[in-house]
Amino acid sequence: MIKIQTFTFNPFQENTYLLFDETKECIIIDPGCYEKAEREILKTFVEVNELKPVKLINTHCHIDHVLGNRFVANTWGLNLEIHELDLPLLHSVKDYCTAYGFDNYDDSPEPSTFLEEGKKVHFGNSTLDILFTPGHAPGHIILHSPEQKFVIAGDVLFQMSIGRTDLPGGDHDTLINSIKTVLLPLTEETQVFLRTRTKYQYWF
Ligand SMILES: [Zn+2]
Repeated sequence: MIKIQTFTFNPFQENTYLLFDETKECIIIDPGCYEKAEREILKTFVEVNELKPVKLINTHCHIDHVLGNRFVANTWGLNLEIHELDLPLLHSVKDYCTAYGFDNYDDSPEPSTFLEEGKKVHFGNSTLDILFTPGHAPGHIILHSPEQKFVIAGDVLFQMSIGRTDLPGGDHDTLINSIKTVLLPLTEETQVFLRTRTKYQYWF
């Protein structure tokens, strides 16, 4: 049985997810922890619950989702897994950090594995399906549990809205198509973990 812990990190109020099951193995999705205090919160949760992080995954590589990649990779000796089409975004994060004043950004490690639709994510006794949902970002993926009926939707959907498509690699029609062909067909009881709107003007 997978349990899901949600954190909200960095000035963009991004959602970081930690999924774990009865084996205590866990995966860390979109670590946006940037400040030291945020990293302590994540690390403390792992330690208090005696979890063993085994995977580091980005749903996509916008700045707010990757700010803690290096910290997570170094702390738990993990390699990064993303969709290959988001590599250009990952490589552009440094420029965004300069523009937005994130002076302490530790460069994300390069991915060691590429995620794509049809492959699965395994940890502990659990398995998640990888679904390809481009539009907000060219290599955006979401993670689906058909058994427990939930989906980690990254930035495809926002509360009462959808992801923005005006950033490099974004495309409105592609996003609408992803929502119609990937998300809407999921069974109605599916719980969608999505981004809540932020009080900040800027979000990615
Ligand atoms: Zn995004």
